[in-house]
Amino acid sequence: NSLTKTFHSLRPPLNLPQEDTLLSVTEYAFSLRANSPWPDSVALINPVTAQRISYSDFIRKTNHLAGYLQKVTKLSKNDVAFVLSTNSIQVPILYFSLLSLGVIVSPANPVSTESEISRLVQLSKPVIAFATSSTAHKLPETLKHQAILIDSPEFESMTMSSNYAIDPVTVSQSDLAAIMFSSGTTGKVKGVMLTHRNLTAQVAIACSFWQQRESPAVMLYTMPYFHIFGFFYCLKSVALSEVVVVMERFDMMKMLKAVEEFRVTHTALTPPVVVAMSKGGLTDGYDLSSLEGVLCGGAPLGKDAIAAFTARFPKVGLIQGYGLTESSGSIFRTSGPEECKHWGSAGRISGGMEAKIVDPETGEALSPHRAGEIWLRGPTIMKGYIGDPGATSETLLKDGWMRTGDLCYIDEGGFLFVVDRLKELIKYKGYQVAPVELEQILLSHSDIADAAVVPYPDEESGQVPMAFVVRQPQSNLNQAQIMDFVAKLVAPYKKIRRVAFVDSIPKNPSGKILRKELRKVAVPTGSSS
Ligand code: AMP
Repeated sequence: NSLTKTFHSLRPPLNLPQEDTLLSVTEYAFSLRANSPWPDSVALINPVTAQRISYSDFIRKTNHLAGYLQKVTKLSKNDVAFVLSTNSIQVPILYFSLLSLGVIVSPANPVSTESEISRLVQLSKPVIAFATSSTAHKLPETLKHQAILIDSPEFESMTMSSNYAIDPVTVSQSDLAAIMFSSGTTGKVKGVMLTHRNLTAQVAIACSFWQQRESPAVMLYTMPYFHIFGFFYCLKSVALSEVVVVMERFDMMKMLKAVEEFRVTHTALTPPVVVAMSKGGLTDGYDLSSLEGVLCGGAPLGKDAIAAFTARFPKVGLIQGYGLTESSGSIFRTSGPEECKHWGSAGRISGGMEAKIVDPETGEALSPHRAGEIWLRGPTIMKGYIGDPGATSETLLKDGWMRTGDLCYIDEGGFLFVVDRLKELIKYKGYQVAPVELEQILLSHSDIADAAVVPYPDEESGQVPMAFVVRQPQSNLNQAQIMDFVAKLVAPYKKIRRVAFVDSIPKNPSGKILRKELRKVAVPTGSSS
């Protein structure tokens, strides 16, 4: 009976508003903040200029901007706004204004190329774009001319002017809040539709781990606001009245300096950074005594890495988690010193959510300790992929289950272990790279007869894209030329970093690339890399 093999949460149930309640996720976050013991603490800090924005200023700026966008820019509910920006303290003000108006936020990686952006814009169909002076030139013509630059003095004055009072907007939990980009389990990038309900549930989950404190937590954001991790953290930080130090991009030394200067209590780091910090040397000379917790996700941390980090920073909890854009972010995590001792585990499932482990061949639900594809169900699960009913129905199944394409097992205690990825996705430093996209670019080269792209394990980045290439007869195209060709057409994180030449690409009878075979060729079993 597959029902008995469903893993339910052992954590307290979520206290969520009814699904048909008229409540936006921003109203929900503000309603939780209203109970804050710190009515006017600092909301945002720019570590470069040391500029601080208090919560009362944040709320005021958000309202002013929303009034301007509604009355002057004429944005209204269900319009889509494309956001192309590096991290800055303007981004959360923008997100809160847009979401409170029922405008759907569609944020993209600012390093994307023009052709990548044009594909994303085709998916989410924005009526307006918000960019910065360094990203606006990449927008398609239709959006470029009326784009609002969030690093401009004009934007600052939109957040300062009280000339435009907002007409009330009714936003329901079931309305769309965001379109985020992910390639899912197969194929090219798709637009993940997340509702106010999905994000409300994710904020409720984050708040369920909150513990009484004497002063607000100080979060250092190294994760980008355009990725689901940064996006929902932006919402939950307001709900919990956290002080957020916004780093424009990750830089080890600047991060250590900011931890010391702003007495940071929590931050998010990738596994290689955790490893680097444990080795010492690097962190000498910085006072990191304020640190209480470090979130580490995207890839499992080895037992040795955890032991080394804990030996060096005994008071810092290493929190691990698992989730995906399609589940509105992490829905498994470790909480408290006991759970953090489960080496290599991404933690236990959050309140209100369910999981099952399914044999990818037979569809049979598996018992604890047996590895299979993890399926997820609950209020954070996306509504679907925009304009793509085919991909949606392949991912969202009957009874509300969502396939993840991740190979995992869960032990008797409910702890999740991520074993491998069944899906095509490559993750380079936490960023998604879709092999199909790179394969199509390779095939557009006149000297390339066939090509396939697979992940190659890499200590620093997690994985790098590796290409297997069949050259046209007589071609003497070399590896560097292939890497250069692709690098000119894609964002830097998607670059091909390894190339191997082969006589043919292994495929099944229906022409599907046998990526598993190629991964075995790339890294023979028993190899240490
Ligand atoms: P994204 O939608 O960009 O957040 O990517 C989600 C994917 O990242 C998941 O489907 C997994 O393949 C991978 N991932 C997330 N958390 C972990 C983890 N703790 N360990 C290994 N892989 C992970």
